[in-house]
Amino acid sequence: MNAEIIAVGSELLLGQITNTNARYISSQLAELGVNVYYHTVVGDNSERLRQAIELAESRADLIVFSGGLGPTKDDLTKETIARHIGTELVMDETALTSIEAFFQRINRPMTENNKKQALVLDGCQVLANHHGMAPGMFYSNGKHVYILLPGPPKEMEPMFQLEAKPVLARWLNQGEVIISHVLRFYGIGEAELETQIMDLLEAQSNPTIAPLASDGEVTLRITAKTSSEEEAWGLIQQTEKELLSRVGNYLYGYNDDSLASSTSSLLIDKGLTIAAAESLTAGLFQSELAAIPGVSQTLVGGVVTYTAESKINQLGVSKDIIDQYGVVSAECATAMASRVKAMFKTDIGVALTGAAGPEPHDNQPAGTVWIAIIMPNDDVVTHELHLSDMRNTNRLRAVKRTFHYLIQ
Ligand code: ATP
Ligand code: MG
Repeated sequence: MNAEIIAVGSELLLGQITNTNARYISSQLAELGVNVYYHTVVGDNSERLRQAIELAESRADLIVFSGGLGPTKDDLTKETIARHIGTELVMDETALTSIEAFFQRINRPMTENNKKQALVLDGCQVLANHHGMAPGMFYSNGKHVYILLPGPPKEMEPMFQLEAKPVLARWLNQGEVIISHVLRFYGIGEAELETQIMDLLEAQSNPTIAPLASDGEVTLRITAKTSSEEEAWGLIQQTEKELLSRVGNYLYGYNDDSLASSTSSLLIDKGLTIAAAESLTAGLFQSELAAIPGVSQTLVGGVVTYTAESKINQLGVSKDIIDQYGVVSAECATAMASRVKAMFKTDIGVALTGAAGPEPHDNQPAGTVWIAIIMPNDDVVTHELHLSDMRNTNRLRAVKRTFHYLIQ
């Protein structure tokens, strides 16, 4: 089966927003083994949308639409599709009830045009919207399958995951089971990882193994397709074992894990608390940790000391250390980590200091970073990084490396 994604919205054509929905839907369809051949973007114009649908029907089996399901005049996706495929729009009572409930929850009167959002293609399977009002739709007329999704990513993504994907998977496989399992690696480049598993990549058929690299991390998605869940997991486990025998040293997590969540889980499991003193990352380490629910069981607090003076005056790093070694040094990082550990009375103290770039800082080239970790027994571990001259990439990389050192 092959697919085309039609993103509807003049704001996409005007360059006001990026078509992230197409990216998301494509990656989701890839997991189901559906090939996406075309991404189309069309404005809020009924005639041009009709032409886009006609073209898509000539070259795709599945057409996924995003946007234009809302209550306003420019939202015309479902009206145009209904007219084009010759079907009616009918009121879906469940959707209407949930829209009324939505307005009650936000304590606002419901205007008449909002009812329009509960109109769906006659004979479709309605996809519930758990994060907004307009329901989505799954409609098949024997020749093509049409999936209609709302524009806002916060509504569209969960709707695709929870509603559209299972329906589509059942429709595609009629009894077959597809299961995906993601392995997450850090500390190894994509090219090196692929080299180590090249023979497995070349021989793959079922399960498939799909590598993906981003932000210094590499993931391998293992996807098995069989007649039972048990058999699919059996195949996945076999492949996982083989992969990990080659590159298992670099594995840090699975599926939705992140370096931050793995760090948080590990520290909580061990019953350890942590505090951080940050210079070049200015709170990014703590902010990434704070994105993980429940992290207050381990993250006690921390400080941002950006200038040399604040390291001395606020954190209590000795002026002699900074005069002698500079702020981008193992000695300064160690003193910062030690001070913040004492200040917050935690088991672990962490510090990051460096030259974020693009210019050198304190006689150190851009991308030089020192990370210090003071362990519960007061052992000190320091790491020197030589990153690039790209400021914000360096700041994020430094944080990720720190997480990686903590979970190693
Ligand atoms: P609403 O009920 O909010 O009007 P809708 O289904 O009618 O939803 P649109 O009006 O087309 O959707 O888009 C609403 C918002 O969703 C846009 O302003 C934009 O922020 C976001 N959006 C729409 N399409 C995309 C897309 N392809 N990629 C990313 N964001 C999108
Ligand atoms: Mg709209």
